[in-house]
Amino acid sequence: MGKHHPCDECGAAVTAGRRVRRTRVGRYKVDDDSRAGPVCANGHAEMDLNELAEYERQAALVVLSQAADIGGEEIRFARKSLGFTQARLAGVLDVAPETVSRWETGSETMSRVSRLALLAVVSDVGALARIEKREGARTSETLFVAR
Ligand SMILES: [Zn+2]
Repeated sequence: MGKHHPCDECGAAVTAGRRVRRTRVGRYKVDDDSRAGPVCANGHAEMDLNELAEYERQAALVVLSQAADIGGEEIRFARKSLGFTQARLAGVLDVAPETVSRWETGSETMSRVSRLALLAVVSDVGALARIEKREGARTSETLFVAR
């Protein structure tokens, strides 16, 4: 790691370290210290929009896979982490657009199968493109597990 500029927020020295970010997802807080990168002694880390979006997607994934129950705020957060409108999410999950709206207002509980489908989309957005548009989909018979 080379030299870094002092922290923009507090002026402290910035060194290579572990980044810690807390993301609020509805009722849940998700702490993520899985990434290394430049960080100051006070924990400030400069991030671009792509990096922030990745933290949000990971936080949505953690909540969808670990939370005992999820409600409207968590579903809305997960949808937004994908950049989807309610109509788009409804199309992907094969439900009526009003259903997504009812989930998000809390007037209807998301079914287990819809939650699992949403979890699958958040965990691998590329799979959705391959299934929907065959974009990047393999057509040969032998596929490989990524190393
Ligand atoms: Zn700082």
